[in-house]
Amino acid sequence: KSFDELNLRQELIQGLSVMSFHKPSKIQERALPLLLMNPPRNLIGQSQSGTGKTAAFVLNILSRIDLNTDQPQALVLAPTRELAKQISNVCSIMGAFLQEAGLKVTEAIPNPAMRGQQYRGQVIVGTPGTTMDMIKRRQLDGKGIKILTLDEADNMLDLQGMGDQCKRVKALLPRDVQTVLFSATFPPEVLDFAGVFAPNANQLTL
Ligand code: AMP
Repeated sequence: KSFDELNLRQELIQGLSVMSFHKPSKIQERALPLLLMNPPRNLIGQSQSGTGKTAAFVLNILSRIDLNTDQPQALVLAPTRELAKQISNVCSIMGAFLQEAGLKVTEAIPNPAMRGQQYRGQVIVGTPGTTMDMIKRRQLDGKGIKILTLDEADNMLDLQGMGDQCKRVKALLPRDVQTVLFSATFPPEVLDFAGVFAPNANQLTL
């Protein structure tokens, strides 16, 4: 398969060729048709780092957001701020040709200069606890979120209380949010979590 067959926005195809991504990786080829289905599917993907999972979920997000507004529409949760930052960079790079149309990617990181102000941007990337606080304090508007993505779910669940924080965040989002979960491993606690968190999800194992 080629990227042209995956129903991506034209600007993303352009970006991929500049990045020298010539064809989709296996996880991209298998995940994107499910993620971009109408209505979109929930997905639980088992995938190690290095397999191209970041681009898989980023391409879904960048294909489906509405750039005519800066209201938050896609939320990505990651176990560490470093990873959140990396993901946010990947969004900006893959979305380079969407900047002009208004793409805004925002890290949900506490910032004293933002006190009392709203975090805006179609794509928000953050860690679970901070993101939850921001939504509760109404610094982040969850009402327009249509895609929730969790990266490194297994690592997240190893950290104190992060699974619960993810569930609380999800409870603050629209009920029909597309839920996408990636994990390198599926020990029993991750499986339990995934089943509740992403109901009726398609499962992909590489
Ligand atoms: P990840 O699995 O998300 O950690 O990505 C692993 C690496 O593969 C990253 O450095 C990406 O830039 C690169 N990559 C992702 N998708 C592709 C692709 N379709 N073709 C070539 N490289 C890719």
